[in-house]
Amino acid sequence: MLRSQDLKLRQSDRQWAVDLVNHLRDSLLVFLKNSDEQPYFQSASVLNSGSYYEMVKIHNPNEFDMMLKLQSPSRLKMTELDQYHGLFYEVALSRPTRSHIRSFLLEDGLTISASKIIREMHRLVRKFISTYKGVRKRPNSPAVTLSLLEVDNGKEELLSVDVVPALEVPSSQSWPLAARAGPDVNNWLGKKTRRSLTHQTCFFVPKKPPGRNLSEAAKESWRISFSHIEKELIKTHGNKRTCCESSATKCCRKQCFKLLKCLIEGLKKRYPQELDALCSYHGKTVFLHTLSIRAQDSLWTLHHLPACFMHLLGALEGHARSGLLPHFFVPSSNLFAALTFPRKALVFLTEALEEQRRQGLPLLMPPAPAPPLAVHSPSNSQSQPSIVVQQTHVIQSPIIQPLKVIETKALVKMFNILALVVALVCVVCYLCPSVVGK
Ligand SMILES: [Zn+2]
Repeated sequence: MLRSQDLKLRQSDRQWAVDLVNHLRDSLLVFLKNSDEQPYFQSASVLNSGSYYEMVKIHNPNEFDMMLKLQSPSRLKMTELDQYHGLFYEVALSRPTRSHIRSFLLEDGLTISASKIIREMHRLVRKFISTYKGVRKRPNSPAVTLSLLEVDNGKEELLSVDVVPALEVPSSQSWPLAARAGPDVNNWLGKKTRRSLTHQTCFFVPKKPPGRNLSEAAKESWRISFSHIEKELIKTHGNKRTCCESSATKCCRKQCFKLLKCLIEGLKKRYPQELDALCSYHGKTVFLHTLSIRAQDSLWTLHHLPACFMHLLGALEGHARSGLLPHFFVPSSNLFAALTFPRKALVFLTEALEEQRRQGLPLLMPPAPAPPLAVHSPSNSQSQPSIVVQQTHVIQSPIIQPLKVIETKALVKMFNILALVVALVCVVCYLCPSVVGK
């Protein structure tokens, strides 16, 4: 739930958290560099990606991702895992090596073991933390979750940092075949930009496909990652170079993305079991597709924010309804395929989104005092996707009006649109002080 007061507080907390994470990052790198027992990690560096710098986590603003870049001594042989259409891979060296990576190879002396790398990373990070002041640790896979606590000014806060190893594909090598069809940015950013993007390297993170009864290969598999390029796309998002250069050319793309992330986080928080498969990456993918289709900057001007956001929401709904959400870089991989996103969860998501739209996005509304006759959702909502809105009061003053209602009274409509613009701008101001403040 977006509460303006909470968001204000979080903004001041945020700098504290960023400083702490930066200090942790620098200390970790020094620790790894000086660690003789595992020379392979000595040359690790940090890849700045994810919401660590984007700062778009709303409901859990104290969660950071840190990707630790690892090098390969030779070219990589990347073999797609069956069924996953280019998203998960078996990764092997192209020739035997005497370099430090050899302690992380499987018996064939070539295949890089994802589990061995994670295990060693866990061990090293655990050792590092034991020397780092004011930290409590919670192990988690594939990343390492730390809990930092601040004891200054008497408060104790949890901060989790996911340290994710990321194996870099040598720059001399092109992307795996499945990724060469994407990303579709020609109409949006132009062919030249696309070429420069696809000339960048890509990464593999030690992540298994979801589900049980995985094959031996799947247990050691890596997921392809383009998070560094995604970050760049979101940053330089304009059809023209001038987009967001000045207040006159300011667009609402980032704000729309933040609202979508916020909605997804809110849905997950509200329906943690039913929407377990949903993650912010689905939102990012829908956002990138939408940017590439609605390429013109003029479609994203600031005063179009409500309409643009509704468009984005409609796109997510459309993908959920059709059960088809191609990965932006690996279009053959469907992120809504039944193997990774259960049908039941997809139906639930479709209905939950529909309901959010119909009710005027209660999850993006600041909560009003509880009404005396609030309807509560049934506790056994597992068998049938049944969504009952708890906050009946927000329906009376929707933040975004569904189309059918808009047709009714012109005055109410005008008022609602005005209220909507004001509300969204307020929400965005809190979500995104850096963009608005510039
Ligand atoms: Zn812009």
